Amino acid sequence: MTQTAITPDLMALPRKTAGLPNLIGMTRDQMREAFIERGIPEKQAKMRVGQVWSWLYCWGVTDFAEMTNVSKDLRKMFAAEFSIERPEIVTKQVSADGTRKYLLRIEGGHEVETVYIPEENRGTLCISSQVGCTLTCTFCHTGTQTLVRNLTAAEIVGQIMVARDDLGEWPERGPKNETRLLSNIVLMGMGEPLYNFDNLRDAMHIAMDPEGISLSRRRITLSTSGVVPLIEKAGEEIGTLLAISLHATTDNVRDRLVPINKKWNIEALLDSCRNYARLSNAERITFEYVMLKGVNDSDAAAKRLVKLLDGIPAKVNLIPFNPWPGAPYERSDWDRIESFAGIVMRAGYASPVRRPRGEDIMAACGQLKSETERKRKNPRMAAQAATPA
Ligand code: SAH
Ligand code: SF4
Repeated sequence: MTQTAITPDLMALPRKTAGLPNLIGMTRDQMREAFIERGIPEKQAKMRVGQVWSWLYCWGVTDFAEMTNVSKDLRKMFAAEFSIERPEIVTKQVSADGTRKYLLRIEGGHEVETVYIPEENRGTLCISSQVGCTLTCTFCHTGTQTLVRNLTAAEIVGQIMVARDDLGEWPERGPKNETRLLSNIVLMGMGEPLYNFDNLRDAMHIAMDPEGISLSRRRITLSTSGVVPLIEKAGEEIGTLLAISLHATTDNVRDRLVPINKKWNIEALLDSCRNYARLSNAERITFEYVMLKGVNDSDAAAKRLVKLLDGIPAKVNLIPFNPWPGAPYERSDWDRIESFAGIVMRAGYASPVRRPRGEDIMAACGQLKSETERKRKNPRMAAQAATPA
């Protein structure tokens, strides 16, 4: 593992512009309004938004001076009235397997983690939607933290910007998607994305905008623990792929693992999935299933799972439990996972086992924030951790 404290190029952040509205994270409509309010004629506003949008999201500029197709006077006005700000990188850790974990500082001194996972022919960024989480899934370390606050749209998009900065993926000249280092997004970091609905929707529309970052909706996966009333709304208003943190096949067990199940049980959850599938033209929904030794990993559970999914275009993603200090569970044995996966596969569902990535830097699913908290509790460890390897 290598750890970079703060390298000079990572510090190439925009000048301090505290208090000025950040253009990153504004929707096109919000930006247009903001421009008109500052004297740009209505007739020009849409065109100006188009210009600025392309500088921000195709070229990744962080300084208005670089917007060379905009007159000098206008650039001056922009610089006086707006900022272009990303979250600040506090530390970047690189795992032996190439996974990069960024600890980012956002307004108020809060910190969130974002993880980049390189794979053959693609790269996935796992982004956070909240600082902490209101939910308390018993196998998840983020769940042991209370919710601090929702991330703004700027902070959600900002995670993508920071990763592209670090990957050197500006300007965007080449072909879209296939050859990109950052080609996919999963909303599987800290927090429950559907409990930050509006900001998440705005941020994903920015990420999908064809004149900017331009990620296809099929390359973005929103993972929810099961906020049933908002699942269909997400299908209508966001339209990305969907992943459901199912993790159990009986309400009894799911109540214990994913307590939101007490509010909306498995049946209600799967009904909303059927509706989502209709909205998304039967694109497959991913069912995430964390493998916990002796808790939810029997062959009988696998058979129940297959029955539950009947009629839903689905695939199952088996996640070997990632331990964290003090966790009350253990990872299922490998042969148990294989047996479970086999039953699901023979029933006709793809059942890949998610290979834990970035474990050595605590970047795997459900481990986020743990190291940060640990460091906070022990300042000496924090100092050591911040020393470049
Ligand atoms: N809050 C959302 C998204 C973030 S969690 C949700 O719950 O869906 C992303 C995935 O990692 C979820 O499926 C979650 O259940 C799983 N996860 C959480 N803790 C884990 C752990 N310790 N080991 C393996 N997977 C975990
Ligand atoms: Fe929150 Fe998801 Fe963790 Fe549950 S699994 S506590 S919803 S982040």
